[in-house]
Amino acid sequence: MKKILVVDDSKTILYGIKDSLEQKSDYEVYTAMSYKECAEILLEHKGRFDVALLDYSLPDAKNGEIVEFISKFKIKSVLLTGSSLDTNNKVFSTETVVDYVIKDGSQAIDYATSIVNRIIENENVEVLIVDDSKTFAHKMEALCEQYNLRTSVRYCGEEGLKALDERSHIKVVLVDYMMPDMNGLEFTSKLRKKYKKDEVSIIALSGSEDKELVSKFLKYGANDFLYKDFSKTEFFSRINSNIEIIQLFDSIRDKATRDHMTGMFNRRYFFETGREMYERAKARKENFALAMLDIDKFKNINDTWGHDIGDIAIKEVGKILAKYLNKDSLISRVGGEEFCIMMHNRPEQEVIQTFEEIREAFAKNVIKLDNLNLKYTVSIGLCIDFGESLEQMMKFSDVSLYEAKEKGRNKVIMYEGII
Ligand code: GH3
Ligand code: MG
Ligand code: MG
Repeated sequence: MKKILVVDDSKTILYGIKDSLEQKSDYEVYTAMSYKECAEILLEHKGRFDVALLDYSLPDAKNGEIVEFISKFKIKSVLLTGSSLDTNNKVFSTETVVDYVIKDGSQAIDYATSIVNRIIENENVEVLIVDDSKTFAHKMEALCEQYNLRTSVRYCGEEGLKALDERSHIKVVLVDYMMPDMNGLEFTSKLRKKYKKDEVSIIALSGSEDKELVSKFLKYGANDFLYKDFSKTEFFSRINSNIEIIQLFDSIRDKATRDHMTGMFNRRYFFETGREMYERAKARKENFALAMLDIDKFKNINDTWGHDIGDIAIKEVGKILAKYLNKDSLISRVGGEEFCIMMHNRPEQEVIQTFEEIREAFAKNVIKLDNLNLKYTVSIGLCIDFGESLEQMMKFSDVSLYEAKEKGRNKVIMYEGII
């Protein structure tokens, strides 16, 4: 669990931020009202905090002394300041200081919460830096790291494009204009042939004062532009807003492809991606398996314990399947309590054994609820022959599933009609 430290002598701010952080995420939030209290907490926790929110002026440390103190522990910090603090103050150039929140704004608590979330979430976001100037590239890399971002650095356009194909966590690309092998415009237009504006954000950089360059970059498909004499806060806020937009698109895409209740892929995604998986495996003559899994007597759970308990039972399916299937398998909720699983490149015997283990795992599983130990079994129909089409494989798996139900449920039956 992530640990957050909030230091402020105003109880309103202190507990406002603590409540807001705890409401939205499962952070452990610690509070201190003075330099002294803060020092004690740090000692107790051996300085291990992920993010600290620090009041610039505390009763026993009026001039930002807390910032320097915290920086010794290398904890990423956000300053809580009054509007009177000059942003040229040297405290802002402390390496661990990532951002600041002006406390008199009504949005201060929400803003502080969103920065903390941003810093924590950034550990899963990668920024690609493409610049032939090593000095400048490393300056940007250091800034990104301060902001908890993952980084990759490439010194020419060609290598930059290659990095994008290899690394799936890249959400933002910072690209220089003047580079020896291809300039930033060319790079942008090549990148856009593969990745759309809502998938990877491009922030172009240039030292030149040429105002036309900005509009050219935007026309070529860049999302944003920065002059190279940017300030640290400007850099962070641009990166920030670009990541937020890309993640917003990611979450919209996710909503369209995933089932809201279980978070599993939905039917639509299953047919799109599943078909590609099927065709590819067929062309490569790889092993391929498709299984239909259905909860036994599920109606009884609903009728006896109510719909909400039924929902809990359905959500449990994803958890169990995740334990037995790796990321190469495609799992989707194709009906109310019916799931389809595709696996490729696994020996027949291993596939059969895996589904047998899955069946057994459900049979042994107990969902412990307040006044109830919920148990249920599943039936599985399996097909391991490509047949004529994906639809045919699904139909054959369904026939086997029906047979499993007929034969008393809690069974795995393999379709053998076409072998
Ligand atoms: P069998 O062993 O033959 O599969 O019997 P069953 O009772 O599991 O199958 P049946 O198809 O008769 O009933 C499935 C029930 O699942 C009917 C439907 O009301 C319920 N159901 C479908 N979607 C949901 C859901 O999202 N939540 C809940 N709680 N119930 C659902
Ligand atoms: Mg059922
Ligand atoms: Mg059913």
